[in-house]
Amino acid sequence: MSEEKKPGWKELPEGDVLEAGTAAKFNVAGWRSEKPVWSKDNCIQCMICWIVCPDSSVKVVDGKMTGFDYDHCKGCGICSHECPTKADKRAIVMEQEKK
Ligand code: SF4
Ligand code: SF4
Repeated sequence: MSEEKKPGWKELPEGDVLEAGTAAKFNVAGWRSEKPVWSKDNCIQCMICWIVCPDSSVKVVDGKMTGFDYDHCKGCGICSHECPTKADKRAIVMEQEKK
C-alpha cells in the first residue's frame, strides 16, 4: 500500500486576503427586514445610539445625531432598544422594510 504524500502548508494555494475596513465598500441595505426611523423632534441628543450601534451607522455632524447611514445599517434594532426616550415620544422606531 503506497502512502500519499500530502502538501505542507507552505505549498497550499493562497486564498482570499482580508483587509480591515472593507465593510465600508459593501451596501447591506438588502439584508434588512426592519430599519430604524429617527424623529428629530423627539431626540434629546444623548448619543447613546451612536455608542451602541455595532455598524457605525448613526450619522453625526458637529457632535449631533443627524440620522442613519442606511447603506451600512443592518437593522439590528439595538439603537431603538437603547434610546432612552419615552414610549409616547420615541426618537427611534423600527419599521418594516418595504420590499
Ligand atoms: S439598527 Fe442596528 S445597525 Fe442600524 S443604526 Fe441601529 S444599531 Fe446601528
Ligand atoms: S439614543 Fe435616541 S435620544 Fe439619544 S441621540 Fe440617539 S436618537 Fe437621540
